[in-house]
Amino acid sequence: MNSKDHCVKLNDGHFIPVLGFGTALRKMTLKSEALKATQLAIDAGFRHIDTADVYQNEEQIGLAIQSKIADGVIERADIFLTSKLWCTCLRPELVRPTLERSLKRLQVDYIDLYLIHHPVAMKPGEEYFPLDEHGKLAFDTVDLCATWEALEKCKDLGLAKSIGVSNFSRGQLEMILNKPGLRHKPVCNQVECHLYLNQSELLDFCKSKDVVLVAYGALGTQRNKNWVDKNAPFLLDDPVLCAMAKKYKRTAALISLRYLLQRGTVVLAKSFNEERIKENLQVFDFQLASEDMKVLDGLNKNFRYISFALFHDHPNNPFRDE
Ligand code: NAP
Repeated sequence: MNSKDHCVKLNDGHFIPVLGFGTALRKMTLKSEALKATQLAIDAGFRHIDTADVYQNEEQIGLAIQSKIADGVIERADIFLTSKLWCTCLRPELVRPTLERSLKRLQVDYIDLYLIHHPVAMKPGEEYFPLDEHGKLAFDTVDLCATWEALEKCKDLGLAKSIGVSNFSRGQLEMILNKPGLRHKPVCNQVECHLYLNQSELLDFCKSKDVVLVAYGALGTQRNKNWVDKNAPFLLDDPVLCAMAKKYKRTAALISLRYLLQRGTVVLAKSFNEERIKENLQVFDFQLASEDMKVLDGLNKNFRYISFALFHDHPNNPFRDE
């Protein structure tokens, strides 16, 4: 079995595997591990791979895909590949050249899904986190609708089969959906979503608009100390979740992933460990009963691990109202 056997149709007619392989790096020193882990993930059956310019691992992901094509394990068309436009490249004229750089690093001539990574714009330049003369993040002012129109052109050119957004609030998503002259709807909004932040309102809204919600941090995130408070609770240690795992004779990780799939989200799971990569694909082997889904719904506490605190003062901070 592989994750391509389990897909949902996007609003532009393309199909996305409902389980994706996350590749974000907690430490840049793990770059070479991203290559090995992605090869293992493809061998295990993952067919949806999630990367981003800012992860600085596109070259390794590209090498992993090329090596598996060369081995005859996959063809390019078997892989659903996502990358993301970073916050320093939101000016419309930067969108196409930035995507083309990603394609080059990934060694592909199209990407399956290209996302605006985050609605907060920062000043263009070489740095991913540019600073101003006072040592503060150098924010930029960009009309996100104009950025979206530049993504639409990339789709028209076939550089990206599908286009979407990430970390957008409901209001920001509505702004794109209601944009006069909209030619292509966002196919998805990729957001943090797990048992402690189950996003039920945003999910209902996305469903009502035929926009897929892609869940990241489904296993409680990698707890990167730059982004996540060290005192944040460990999701996979939750006692109710662990009891449920015992009941189903599965791991807490599998219950967490299964819960999200059954609510109709697409789910990303990152692991660079061979056993856990294989384990995560077992999410298709069982089902949670509706009464247990309700128990798991009860774990929600609207707790966000990654609040992008650095972006709090930006007028487009999507989590401003929380
Ligand atoms: P995650 O999927 O929540 O995973 C967290 C940790 O769980 C991993 O470090 C992994 O460690 C561990 N794990 C994986 N499988 C497990 C299992 N079966 N049992 C026990 N532990 C397990 O992590 P994430 O990287 O924060 O999120 C997933 C992906 O979403 C990212 O990699 C990235 O592609 C995407 N993402 C997007 C955004 C955005 O702004 N759009 C933000 C964050 C993440 P091991 O490697 O040691 O197994």
